[in-house]
Amino acid sequence: MNFTPVPDYHMHTPRCNHATGSVRDYADAAIACGLKEIGMSDHSPMPGGFDKAWRMDRSELNAYLNEIEQTRDALSDQLTVRVGLEADFHPGTEAYVEAMIAAHNWDYVIGSVHYIGDWGFDNPDCIHLWDDWKNDDAYCAYFELVMQSAQSGLFDIIGHPDLIKKFGHRADEHSSRIKSSEESMLQAVLKSGAALEISSAGLRKPVGEIYPHNRIVQRAAELGIPFAFGSDAHSPVEVGYGMDTCLNILESFGVKEIASFKQRNMTMLALTHA
Ligand SMILES: [Zn+2]
Ligand SMILES: [Zn+2]
Repeated sequence: MNFTPVPDYHMHTPRCNHATGSVRDYADAAIACGLKEIGMSDHSPMPGGFDKAWRMDRSELNAYLNEIEQTRDALSDQLTVRVGLEADFHPGTEAYVEAMIAAHNWDYVIGSVHYIGDWGFDNPDCIHLWDDWKNDDAYCAYFELVMQSAQSGLFDIIGHPDLIKKFGHRADEHSSRIKSSEESMLQAVLKSGAALEISSAGLRKPVGEIYPHNRIVQRAAELGIPFAFGSDAHSPVEVGYGMDTCLNILESFGVKEIASFKQRNMTMLALTHA
């Protein structure tokens, strides 16, 4: 690697029903590729069984926490393991999410938008619903929700901030509507004090590029919004995936540090070359 490894804060467990590997497997993979810090962030429970096929059940939350804490304690001389969660921002569920966050001792909580209304726009089973949307309208609806997720003040990291492009549906980047919805989203993130996730997951998806787009990375860097790295690993082989690619992009826009989290306090780590 060109860069000294930074924390990878986005990885899942089989409890979400679409990932493989134990926490220990993820931790071992991290150690094998030279990482010093990771955090688990499985898909959180949601109220009313909402899209429950794609997330852990509330009854699994304690086992999830115990597994992370046991791995953290067992490996404490080799790897820092943080206790995190990827919660959904879905209007109407804020009180549930707030109470779930308050009930446990998280190192960080990622807030992600995976739904516009009932449409799981990044779910391959729902891809046909794109036929009902103009791309620009879907992007604006999506960025509006990401903006609201930041304004909610619930989250430490704003997850994969242009996930809407996952399958390669593109907005008109020159449209003033798109530009202003991106800008409003970033202004809300800036105001919230949360970090923006730079995610390598898009490299493994049809869109074939990191989240968010370089244009958004550049503007966030200009605004001084902190970044946190995530591979969004759903398998231990994906731990640390694309880290150098993401860090090179950050460096090209003048970013010199990356966020680290402990007990929901953010500190910045200098980016250094290996
Ligand atoms: Zn997932
Ligand atoms: Zn996600």
